[in-house]
Amino acid sequence: MPEGRTRVSEDEQRHETRIADALKARPAGAPAGEATETVFRLDDVHVYYGSFLALRGVTLDVHGNEITAFIGPSGCGKSTLIRCLNRMNDLIPGARVEGKIEYHSQDLYGDGVDPVEVRRRIGMVFQKPNPFPKSIYENIAFGPRVIGMRPDSMDDLVERSLRGAAVWDEVKDKLKQNALALSGGQQQRLCIARAIAVSPDGILMDEPCSALDPVSTARIEDLMEELKRDYTIVIVTHNMQQAARVSDRTAFFTAEAAEGSGDRTGLLVEYDRTDSLFTHPADKRTEDYITGRFG
Ligand code: ADP
Repeated sequence: MPEGRTRVSEDEQRHETRIADALKARPAGAPAGEATETVFRLDDVHVYYGSFLALRGVTLDVHGNEITAFIGPSGCGKSTLIRCLNRMNDLIPGARVEGKIEYHSQDLYGDGVDPVEVRRRIGMVFQKPNPFPKSIYENIAFGPRVIGMRPDSMDDLVERSLRGAAVWDEVKDKLKQNALALSGGQQQRLCIARAIAVSPDGILMDEPCSALDPVSTARIEDLMEELKRDYTIVIVTHNMQQAARVSDRTAFFTAEAAEGSGDRTGLLVEYDRTDSLFTHPADKRTEDYITGRFG
């Protein structure tokens, strides 16, 4: 039906314009090709839940002081993979990781690696802000206390963390108030402050803006740009414009039936610098997804 086709192509055009606008809105970052340190090196990673293969054969490097985005349709294993990077999957019964994941050239799953220490060094922010039902101050001070950090001044550490997450000005006069009284966007920045407070090296963000309004989303995106000066950031997002706006590199995943099995398993289709992936995708599956033709 020509009429239907025209409508689809107009939708596609609008979609492509939004992606192009998002790419234009990117702050000037490191020039293309400039190499930064490899923080995570994944080699042929497979993840199972029991006998179900959720993700197969992922090989990619995550670079320091960059934002790496994982995109792809629901169920393709983005959250599963991001949880591998700080051993959060260890907490899920039946989850099993095969292949190699190195963190600063050390086997992240090697004998003698303490998963609790891994989670301190690589913090995580979730889709739904999850402050503790405690005061704003206690939300920040709790982690450093639990791991035995002895800052010269806890007050200073709390302030520094809240400033680092761009929420200090909004909460400085009510540090004793319950964190749950804050707005969703403030709660999410508080959770980022909580992650920063224990001096991590990396921050993993699993759909950090999907429960937030556009204004709060923009604040978190601006904040991410500042945070990458000090931290390595990996973000899962279902929002392609967001990946195009904020990330330096993008990994596109999809789910396909494995040979000889009806189960759909996730796989990495393409990984590249964000502007290249969105403007010159090498794989037809990536192109179909980013132009909205994924069906
Ligand atoms: P995405 O983040 O891309 O939406 P997920 O990583 O959540 O994908 O899921 C990948 C696959 O693994 C899906 O088939 C999902 O149903 C399955 N899965 C995710 N978490 C679990 C779990 N805790 N137990 C069993 N299967 C899971």
